[in-house]
Amino acid sequence: ELNPLNICAITVAPLPGARVLPLTPGLEDTLFEHDGQITKRDIRALTLSALAPRTHELLWDIGAGSGSIGIEWMLADASLRAVAIESEPERAQRIARNARAFGVPDLHVVEGPAPHVLAGLEPPHAIFIGGGGTDPGVMDAAISALRPGGRLVANAVSLEMEQSLLALHAKHGGELVRLSVAQAAPLGTMTGWRPAMPITQWRWSK
Ligand code: SAH
Repeated sequence: ELNPLNICAITVAPLPGARVLPLTPGLEDTLFEHDGQITKRDIRALTLSALAPRTHELLWDIGAGSGSIGIEWMLADASLRAVAIESEPERAQRIARNARAFGVPDLHVVEGPAPHVLAGLEPPHAIFIGGGGTDPGVMDAAISALRPGGRLVANAVSLEMEQSLLALHAKHGGELVRLSVAQAAPLGTMTGWRPAMPITQWRWSK
């Protein structure tokens, strides 16, 4: 079946002109339909590694944006399930389109703001927070909903979110990691490093 992004997960007889997906996380950003709000490839690969999917587990992707994290979680193994929580209706629809294009139409899209829409969802084994982490009650709701033994990973790009993560790290422990990526880009006739904004990542197991 054709999809708008012409993505193909099958390597034996790929669709003509289709971009074939590799098996490792950290898919190219251009494979996703997005509006700029997307966890970039290199950071996404490290984030998936920290989320550490195991068979049959459920992920909450809070502030899902394009859905890239939930989609890559589901691509890791057919038994994995994910809920993408996104407050902006246009983005929620985009997530559903991306999920279909990547062959994971069962990604459950919940449109509305966390923490309100989290009530009643099945408790997850892993939670990613890529947006909404500074909204009142979001981090507390995530921490309390996470199953014992589950992993929580939160990425901060703003100082305000970083400040919350420093406080959570002081209170609950876990790991704080600073991630910086730079890409070589044209600089006049030469080439220079163009740094992306650094990310502060909090990783915590319950
Ligand atoms: N990880 C995403 C990018 C996240 S951008 C990806 O790879 O595509 C952050 C997103 O969080 C935005 O789409 C924003 O609309 C959403 N957001 C912000 N506050 C939210 C809240 N309280 N509940 C749900 N989504 C929220």
